[in-house]
Amino acid sequence: MPSAKSGLRFTCQKGCINCCDQRGFVYLTEADLTAAAKYIGMTAADFEAKYIYRTRHYLRFRKPKNSQCHFLQNGGCAIHPAKPTQCRVFPFWPELVEDRDSWNETGKYCPGIGTGPLIQIGTALEAAEEMKRAYPEMYRNGNKWSS
Ligand code: SF4
Ligand code: SF4
Repeated sequence: MPSAKSGLRFTCQKGCINCCDQRGFVYLTEADLTAAAKYIGMTAADFEAKYIYRTRHYLRFRKPKNSQCHFLQNGGCAIHPAKPTQCRVFPFWPELVEDRDSWNETGKYCPGIGTGPLIQIGTALEAAEEMKRAYPEMYRNGNKWSS
Protein backbone atom coordinates (compact mmCIF):
# COMPACT_ATOMS: atom_id res chain seq x y z
CA MET A 1 0.00 0.00 0.00
CA PRO A 2 1.49 3.35 -0.96
CA SER A 3 1.80 6.14 1.51
CA ALA A 4 3.62 9.40 1.74
CA LYS A 5 6.00 7.86 4.25
CA SER A 6 6.76 4.59 2.53
CA GLY A 7 6.99 5.92 -1.03
CA LEU A 8 5.24 4.51 -4.05
CA ARG A 9 5.97 1.58 -6.29
CA PHE A 10 5.55 1.93 -10.02
CA THR A 11 6.91 0.50 -13.25
CA CYS A 12 5.14 1.01 -16.55
CA GLN A 13 4.22 -2.36 -18.06
CA LYS A 14 5.36 -3.17 -21.58
CA GLY A 15 2.53 -3.39 -24.07
CA CYS A 16 -0.02 -1.79 -21.74
CA ILE A 17 -2.13 1.08 -23.07
CA ASN A 18 -4.73 1.23 -20.32
CA CYS A 19 -4.08 4.84 -19.30
CA CYS A 20 -4.48 5.99 -22.93
CA ASP A 21 -7.80 4.21 -23.09
CA GLN A 22 -9.38 5.87 -20.05
CA ARG A 23 -12.25 8.27 -20.55
CA GLY A 24 -11.00 11.86 -20.40
CA PHE A 25 -9.12 14.54 -22.25
CA VAL A 26 -5.44 14.89 -23.10
CA TYR A 27 -4.29 18.42 -22.31
CA LEU A 28 -1.17 20.00 -23.76
CA THR A 29 1.13 22.86 -23.02
CA GLU A 30 2.23 25.13 -25.87
CA ALA A 31 5.59 23.33 -25.77
CA ASP A 32 3.82 19.95 -25.98
CA LEU A 33 1.99 21.12 -29.09
CA THR A 34 5.19 22.29 -30.76
CA ALA A 35 7.05 19.09 -29.90
CA ALA A 36 4.29 16.76 -31.09
CA ALA A 37 3.89 18.70 -34.34
CA LYS A 38 7.62 18.59 -35.01
CA TYR A 39 7.74 14.88 -34.22
CA ILE A 40 5.22 14.02 -36.93
CA GLY A 41 6.61 16.58 -39.36
CA MET A 42 3.83 19.15 -39.29
CA THR A 43 3.89 22.84 -38.60
CA ALA A 44 2.45 23.81 -35.22
CA ALA A 45 -0.32 25.70 -36.99
CA ASP A 46 -1.33 22.73 -39.16
CA PHE A 47 -1.10 20.37 -36.20
CA GLU A 48 -3.31 22.64 -34.14
CA ALA A 49 -5.88 22.98 -36.89
CA LYS A 50 -6.13 19.23 -37.26
CA TYR A 51 -5.75 17.86 -33.74
CA ILE A 52 -6.22 20.59 -31.15
CA TYR A 53 -9.20 22.14 -29.43
CA ARG A 54 -8.20 25.46 -27.87
CA THR A 55 -10.12 27.38 -25.22
CA ARG A 56 -9.11 30.49 -23.33
CA HIS A 57 -7.15 28.49 -20.77
CA TYR A 58 -6.68 25.03 -22.23
CA LEU A 59 -5.27 23.18 -25.17
CA ARG A 60 -6.45 19.62 -25.60
CA PHE A 61 -6.55 17.00 -28.28
CA ARG A 62 -9.77 16.67 -30.22
CA LYS A 63 -11.25 13.27 -29.60
CA PRO A 64 -11.79 10.81 -32.42
CA LYS A 65 -15.15 9.06 -32.55
CA ASN A 66 -14.13 5.58 -31.51
CA SER A 67 -11.10 6.11 -29.35
CA GLN A 68 -9.90 8.25 -26.49
CA CYS A 69 -6.90 9.61 -28.41
CA HIS A 70 -6.06 10.00 -32.07
CA PHE A 71 -2.48 8.96 -31.42
CA LEU A 72 -3.38 5.66 -29.79
CA GLN A 73 -2.53 3.54 -32.81
CA ASN A 74 -1.57 -0.11 -33.30
CA GLY A 75 -1.47 -0.74 -29.59
CA GLY A 76 0.84 2.12 -28.73
CA CYS A 77 1.41 5.86 -28.76
CA ALA A 78 2.29 7.16 -32.22
CA ILE A 79 4.01 10.20 -30.72
CA HIS A 80 5.60 8.45 -27.75
CA PRO A 81 8.89 10.46 -27.69
CA ALA A 82 6.90 13.70 -27.89
CA LYS A 83 3.80 12.83 -25.92
CA PRO A 84 2.13 15.56 -23.85
CA THR A 85 3.23 16.30 -20.30
CA GLN A 86 0.21 14.68 -18.65
CA CYS A 87 0.91 11.41 -20.52
CA ARG A 88 4.62 11.48 -19.70
CA VAL A 89 4.11 12.24 -16.01
CA PHE A 90 1.29 9.73 -15.39
CA PRO A 91 0.64 8.31 -12.82
CA PHE A 92 2.47 10.95 -10.81
CA TRP A 93 -0.35 13.46 -11.11
CA PRO A 94 -0.93 15.65 -8.05
CA GLU A 95 -4.42 14.26 -7.49
CA LEU A 96 -2.99 10.73 -7.38
CA VAL A 97 0.31 11.26 -5.60
CA GLU A 98 -1.30 13.38 -2.91
CA ASP A 99 -4.23 11.08 -2.29
CA ARG A 100 -3.61 7.50 -1.36
CA ASP A 101 -7.15 6.33 -2.14
CA SER A 102 -6.98 7.83 -5.63
CA TRP A 103 -3.57 6.22 -6.19
CA ASN A 104 -4.97 2.83 -5.16
CA GLU A 105 -8.09 3.35 -7.28
CA THR A 106 -5.90 4.13 -10.31
CA GLY A 107 -4.08 0.87 -9.66
CA LYS A 108 -7.27 -0.93 -10.73
CA TYR A 109 -6.55 -0.02 -14.36
CA CYS A 110 -2.82 0.74 -14.21
CA PRO A 111 -1.02 -2.56 -13.62
CA GLY A 112 2.25 -0.70 -13.11
CA ILE A 113 1.09 0.77 -9.82
CA GLY A 114 2.35 -1.25 -6.89
CA THR A 115 5.08 -2.95 -8.90
CA GLY A 116 8.80 -2.36 -9.36
CA PRO A 117 11.21 -0.26 -7.36
CA LEU A 118 10.21 2.07 -4.60
CA ILE A 119 9.81 5.64 -5.86
CA GLN A 120 10.57 8.05 -3.06
CA ILE A 121 7.73 10.42 -2.33
CA GLY A 122 10.01 13.40 -3.00
CA THR A 123 10.60 12.19 -6.55
CA ALA A 124 6.89 11.58 -7.07
CA LEU A 125 6.03 15.02 -5.72
CA GLU A 126 8.59 16.63 -8.03
CA ALA A 127 6.81 15.01 -10.97
CA ALA A 128 3.49 16.21 -9.59
CA GLU A 129 4.89 19.72 -9.36
CA GLU A 130 5.80 19.53 -13.05
CA MET A 131 2.13 18.90 -13.74
CA LYS A 132 1.11 21.94 -11.70
CA ARG A 133 3.59 24.10 -13.57
CA ALA A 134 2.49 22.74 -16.94
CA TYR A 135 -1.23 23.22 -16.33
CA PRO A 136 -1.53 26.07 -13.82
CA GLU A 137 -5.17 26.77 -14.58
CA MET A 138 -6.05 23.15 -13.93
CA TYR A 139 -4.68 23.24 -10.44
CA ARG A 140 -5.56 26.75 -9.47
CA ASN A 141 -8.61 25.61 -7.52
CA GLY A 142 -7.96 21.90 -7.34
CA ASN A 143 -8.38 19.31 -10.00
CA LYS A 144 -10.46 20.17 -13.02
CA TRP A 145 -9.59 17.38 -15.38
CA SER A 146 -13.18 16.64 -16.22
CA SER A 147 -14.02 20.18 -17.31
S1 SF4 B 1 -0.82 11.10 -26.68
FE1 SF4 B 1 0.00 9.04 -26.64
S2 SF4 B 1 0.36 8.62 -24.45
FE2 SF4 B 1 -1.05 10.37 -24.58
S3 SF4 B 1 -3.12 9.47 -24.47
FE3 SF4 B 1 -2.56 9.68 -26.65
S4 SF4 B 1 -1.72 7.69 -27.20
FE4 SF4 B 1 -1.68 7.83 -24.97
S1 SF4 C 1 -1.80 2.10 -17.40
FE1 SF4 C 1 0.08 2.16 -16.14
S2 SF4 C 1 1.28 0.38 -16.76
FE2 SF4 C 1 -0.28 0.76 -18.35
S3 SF4 C 1 0.77 2.06 -19.87
FE3 SF4 C 1 -0.30 3.42 -18.44
S4 SF4 C 1 1.26 3.93 -16.89
FE4 SF4 C 1 2.00 2.12 -17.98
